[in-house]
Amino acid sequence: MKILFLHGWHSVPGGVKPSYLIQHGLEVINPKLDDDDFDLAVQSAQELFDLHQPDVVVGSSRGGAVAMNLLPHDSKIVLLCPAWKKWGLAHHVKPNTIILHSRLDDVVPFQDSVDLARESQATLLDVGHDHRLADPQTLEVLLWACKLPATSEPIPEPDDQLPLSEDASYLCDSCGEEIVIPLDLTEGSSQTYVEDCPVCCHANIIHVHIDSNGHASVSAEPEQD
Ligand SMILES: [Zn+2]
Repeated sequence: MKILFLHGWHSVPGGVKPSYLIQHGLEVINPKLDDDDFDLAVQSAQELFDLHQPDVVVGSSRGGAVAMNLLPHDSKIVLLCPAWKKWGLAHHVKPNTIILHSRLDDVVPFQDSVDLARESQATLLDVGHDHRLADPQTLEVLLWACKLPATSEPIPEPDDQLPLSEDASYLCDSCGEEIVIPLDLTEGSSQTYVEDCPVCCHANIIHVHIDSNGHASVSAEPEQD
C-alpha cells in the first residue's frame, strides 16, 4: 500500500507519523513541501501524486489543506487536523474521507473539522490530545484509517453519535406526574399504545412522534372506557 504523506507547515519529512507508517509496512512518499508558497506546495504534491498514484493521501495540518486542493482523484484521503480554513480554496472533501482531530488542539480549531465533516459527510474521529497527533493511540488510529478499504460510501458513524433520544416523558393527565418512558425507535416514527401510569395506575393512551432528526414528542390522554 502506497501513501503520499503531506507534512504540516514548517515540519520536515521523516517525522513520527510517516515513520510509524513505514515501520508498519506501508510505502510512504514523504516529500518536502514549500512552506512559503501554498500553490507551489500543491503543485509539487500534485506532481508526486500523478507520478506515484498512491492508494491513500495523508495530509497533516497545512498538508491537509494541500491534500484537499489536489485535483479530483480516486485515492482515499486521511486528514490530520486539516488547516483548510487557513490555506487553499477547497471547502469539501469526498464522503469517504477520514479526519482525525483532537478537541484539545490549540492550533487548528476542532470546530473546523466538525464543519468540514458535516459539509462533506466525511468521518471525523476525536483522537489524541494536541495538534501533533503523534501519541501511540492516535498513530494506531492513523494506521487503521490508512488500511481501511477504500469505499465510495460514507463510513457509518458509531451508534453513540447518532442524534437519537432514547427516552422521553409525558405528563399523566390523571395524577399530573411526569412519566419517563423508553423509546423503541424500531417501532416507527409514529406510535400509539396504551400504558398504565406507574404512579396512579390510570390507563393512558400514549402518542409518540419521532421526527427525522430523532427528536421525540410524546403526548398522553386518559383512556376512555
Ligand atoms: Zn398517573
